[in-house]
Amino acid sequence: MPKASVRMAYAYDRLRAYPPEVAGRIATAIGNALGVRGEEAVLLELGVGTGRIALPLIARGYRYLALDKDPGMLEVFRQKAAGVMRKVRLIEADARAIPLPDESVHGVIVVHLWHLLPDWPKALAEALRVLKPGGVLLEGWDEMEAEEERLIQERWRSLVEAEDVGVVRGLHRKRLEEVEETLKRLGLRPKTKQVVQWREERTLRQALEALEERLYSFTQLVPEEVHERIMPGLWAWAQGEFGDLDRSFTLERSFTLRATRMA
Ligand code: SAM
Repeated sequence: MPKASVRMAYAYDRLRAYPPEVAGRIATAIGNALGVRGEEAVLLELGVGTGRIALPLIARGYRYLALDKDPGMLEVFRQKAAGVMRKVRLIEADARAIPLPDESVHGVIVVHLWHLLPDWPKALAEALRVLKPGGVLLEGWDEMEAEEERLIQERWRSLVEAEDVGVVRGLHRKRLEEVEETLKRLGLRPKTKQVVQWREERTLRQALEALEERLYSFTQLVPEEVHERIMPGLWAWAQGEFGDLDRSFTLERSFTLRATRMA
């Protein structure tokens, strides 16, 4: 296992983690949307990452098929799930070719994956294929807002664009709309609900480090040499703009769930 990939996965895990209360509310919303008794239900998560959605559900008794194509993410997931692994099967595979039979799971969970797949319809078709009749597709997403984070990311973007590299933003939201349209075209009826809103403190340094470590998908298409060239300028700008980089700011966060039941 390459150490760098596990280190990245831990950094991702720290940045995206939910406070315990929030993680519990999300698990409850997913359980309610499923409408199946916990002990019996089998859930599959596509692009499970380090398990921030999965672990509270596993703790509640669901059997969990944790699929991801990145062994570093699955390794961190495995370390975090120590003690409850008997309920879990790790599947290192591509979401566009799920190695499971048709109609074999009660719920398919997808959080922050569609926008990473240019050919997302293949993964959506696979998700629908493995759901049992009456099973539920559960798509979730985070939103976060803070003026400081916005200013830092805007500056990052202008530095990248000055290097003649285009940055694509807003893909996540657009992809969610495309998936919703597809589900409706198939005669299904997705229902969307904001599950929880909360506030978090983050330091300016943490916001810069997330860009430095390329934890957001919009940073990952920037060539390595461009990334290395612009980052010192970003840190210097932030130092001049904000002064103390260990100052914290408030991040408004929320989690939304869209549930679509198969006929
Ligand atoms: N769902 C997790 C969460 O919300 O914390 C992880 C989200 S992370 C942005 C996307 C995850 O999808 C990563 O763990 C990545 O390895 C995985 N992934 C990306 N493309 C994939 C594919 N084609 N098949 C399976 N997993 C994939």
